[in-house]
Amino acid sequence: MATDISARDRARWVELVEQIELHRRHYYLQDKPVISDQEYDKLFRELILLEEKFPLLQTADSPTLSVGGAKAEPFEPIEHLTRMYSLDNVFDDAELESWRNRIVKDLGAEPVYLGELKIDGLAVDLVYRNGMLASVATRGDGRVGEDVTYNSQFITAIPRALTGNPPKLLEVRGEIYFTLADFDKLNGEVVALGKSAFANPRNAAAGSLRQRIDRREEEIVKATNNPKTSTAKLASLRDDLTHAQRILSSLQLTVHGIGAVEGVELDSQSSGYKLLADCGLPTSMHYKVGIDPSEFISYWQQHRHDVEHEIDGVVVKVDNFELQAKLGETSRAPRWAIAYKYPPEVVTTKLIDIKVSVGRTGRITPFAQMQPIKVAGSIVEMATLHNQEEVKRKKILIGDTVYLRKAGDVIPEVIGPVVEARTGAETEFEMPSKCPACGSKISAEKVGDVDLRCPNAQSCPAQLIERLFYIGSRSALDIEGLGQKAAAALVDEGLLTSEADLFNLTPSSLEKSSFFTKSVAGELQLNLAAEKLLAQLQIAKSRPLWRILVALSIRHVGPTAAQALATHFKSIEAIATSEAAELAELDGIGEAIAISIKEWFGESWRSQIVTSWSKAGVNMIAQQQQQQSQELTLVTVVITGSLPGFTRDSAAAAVTDRGGKVTSTVSKKTDFVVVGENPGSKFDKAQELGVPVLDAAGFEVLLTAGAQAARASLGLS
Ligand SMILES: [Zn+2]
Repeated sequence: MATDISARDRARWVELVEQIELHRRHYYLQDKPVISDQEYDKLFRELILLEEKFPLLQTADSPTLSVGGAKAEPFEPIEHLTRMYSLDNVFDDAELESWRNRIVKDLGAEPVYLGELKIDGLAVDLVYRNGMLASVATRGDGRVGEDVTYNSQFITAIPRALTGNPPKLLEVRGEIYFTLADFDKLNGEVVALGKSAFANPRNAAAGSLRQRIDRREEEIVKATNNPKTSTAKLASLRDDLTHAQRILSSLQLTVHGIGAVEGVELDSQSSGYKLLADCGLPTSMHYKVGIDPSEFISYWQQHRHDVEHEIDGVVVKVDNFELQAKLGETSRAPRWAIAYKYPPEVVTTKLIDIKVSVGRTGRITPFAQMQPIKVAGSIVEMATLHNQEEVKRKKILIGDTVYLRKAGDVIPEVIGPVVEARTGAETEFEMPSKCPACGSKISAEKVGDVDLRCPNAQSCPAQLIERLFYIGSRSALDIEGLGQKAAAALVDEGLLTSEADLFNLTPSSLEKSSFFTKSVAGELQLNLAAEKLLAQLQIAKSRPLWRILVALSIRHVGPTAAQALATHFKSIEAIATSEAAELAELDGIGEAIAISIKEWFGESWRSQIVTSWSKAGVNMIAQQQQQQSQELTLVTVVITGSLPGFTRDSAAAAVTDRGGKVTSTVSKKTDFVVVGENPGSKFDKAQELGVPVLDAAGFEVLLTAGAQAARASLGLS
C-alpha cells in the first residue's frame, strides 16, 4: 500500500471527484449530461485505480462509496477532536491593560503578541486526514457541532485536499462569512423573492450554510421519476437548487486556529499560520506578529471598513505555544487570547411609527418602525421596544429622530431620541387597548406583569400564525415549507382556523390560496411552496414524540421538558391523563410546568388538536423507548471524556433511553463514572470516592447487559 501521497495525487483526486459529482448532478438532477457515458466511465475507473493505489485518499464522501448520491444525513451532531473555546472579550483600554498585566505577571515578561481581525462570521471546525477533508462542523457548544460536510462541498473556499506536505491529522478552526458585497447582493435577491432580509452577514452565513441541499436534490429525483411532473415544475425545482448552491459557493473562509494535529511540531501561532497557508488553506492577510496591542487595536478601529468583510473587533494572542500552554485555559476561554470588541456603531434615523406585534403566547410587543438605515454593515428598519414601560423609559416619541445601534453588533436597539431635532410635531406612543389582530381587549395576565397579552389564544389570527410558524421551526417539527410567510398565508387566506387541521391540508385546499399557486398558461397550479409544504407535512407526522409535544405550544414546554415527558410517559395519552402532582415529580418539570400542561389539556379546543393530529396519522407515542427495556432504572451515571461512537448527547441519551439518569457531578450516590478519552477532574473525583469507573468497553456492557453485568465486569459484586 502506498502511503506517501503527493500533493499532485491529492489534487488529481479532487479533480476527478469534482468532475464525477458535476456529471452525476447533471445526469440525475439537471437531465443534461455534459460528457458521454464513456468519458464518465473513464473518469470513474481512474478514480478507482487512484484510490486502490492510495487507499487513504478515499474519504467518506468519495463517489466510489456511493451510488447516485447516497450520503450521511446532514446536520447530525459531530464531536470536535479538541474543544473549541470561545474568547473572552474586553471592551476598552483599561480591560485590555488588566489582561496584559496578568499575562506579564504569569509569564514574568511581556511575550510576543499576534494580532488578527475578528471576522463577523460563523465559526467552523474542519478536519483533514492525510491531507483530505474528512469533516466540517459548526462550532455548536464548543464540544459538539452540526455536521455540515455535505453542504461544504459547494463552498469553493474550503479545499477538499491540501497542498504541500500536510500533517497526518489537522484540525483547523476558521470563520465562514460573506463579503459585504456578496451579503448585499444576497439580501437584494432575498427581498426580491418576498422574504425578509438577513439582519447581518453572520446570520446570512448561518442560514446559507444550513440550507437543505440534500432535500432539494431528493425532491428533484422524486419529481423526475414521477411521470406526472410538469416540465415547468422540474425547471423551478432545479432553479431553486442551483440558487441554493450558488449562495453556498460564494461563502468565504478564513482560518485562524489549529486544534488536534499529528505528524508535525509547531512552536507558535504564526508558524501554525505558515503551515496552514502552505497547505493551501485561506489565512488572513491582515494578521501581524510582534504587534503593540494598543496600536493594532486603534489602527483597525479606524480602518474597520477598509476590509471586504464585516469585523466586530480584533483578537490579540500570545504567539508562542509554550507560553500559551503555561497560561492555560479557564473553563470557557483561553487565558492567552483576548477579543477586543469595538463599540457598536451608533447612527441616527427617523422613527416613523411605533407598532405592536402579537406573539405566539399572545404577548403584545411594541416595536419601532424606522427609516431604513445601514448600521454595522446591515440595513435596519425595525427594532423591538420590548414593552410599553421601555418606551416610556427611553422617552421616545413617534416622529423623533433616534439614536440607533446594534447591541453586541447583532440586535438593533433604539437608544433614545435626539431631543434637539424635535419639531414639536412628535406624538406620544399609546399602547393599544385592543389586540391589533383580533380586537380582543388586552390585559396583563397577573397583577404586576409588565407584559400585556391578547387573551384570545384560540382564534386570534396573529397568535395562530405564530404557533404555526413555531410548529415548522427546527426545535419543533422542522418543516421547511412552513415558514412565516406560509403560516401567514394559511391563516390570512382562510385555509386554517386552527392548527388542528394542519395535517388535513390537501392539494385542493391549497389551490384556493394565491400564495400556494401560480398561473401557468392561464391555469392555476400548485407552486413549489405548496409541494414543499405537503411533502414535508407527511414527513413531519412521524417525528419523535417529544418534538410533537414541543409543537403543541404548551407554555414552558420546550425541548428539554418535552424530552423528559416523552421518555417517562411514552405517549400523549399518558401525559394528558396524568395528575399534576405526578407530572411535577418528574425531573426537569416541576409545579409551574405541570400546571400549564394540565391547563392546556383542560381546554377542549386544545385537546382537539391532539385528537385531530392523531386521526391524521401524527405519531403520538415514544416508539423507540417502548422497545427498549428499562435496564438502567435507578442507575445514576456521570460521563466524562469522549467515547468512540458517541457524541456527548448521544451517550447521555443511551443511558436515559434505558431509564437511567445522567448527572454532571460525581457524588457517593453516583453508580458509575464512564470515562472516555481525555477525561476531566471527574475521573479523579470518582477514584477519591471509590465510585466504579467504566471505560468505553465497560459502557457497552452497561448499555447491553445492565448495571449488574457492568459491576461484574469490574470484578465487583
Ligand atoms: Zn388577538
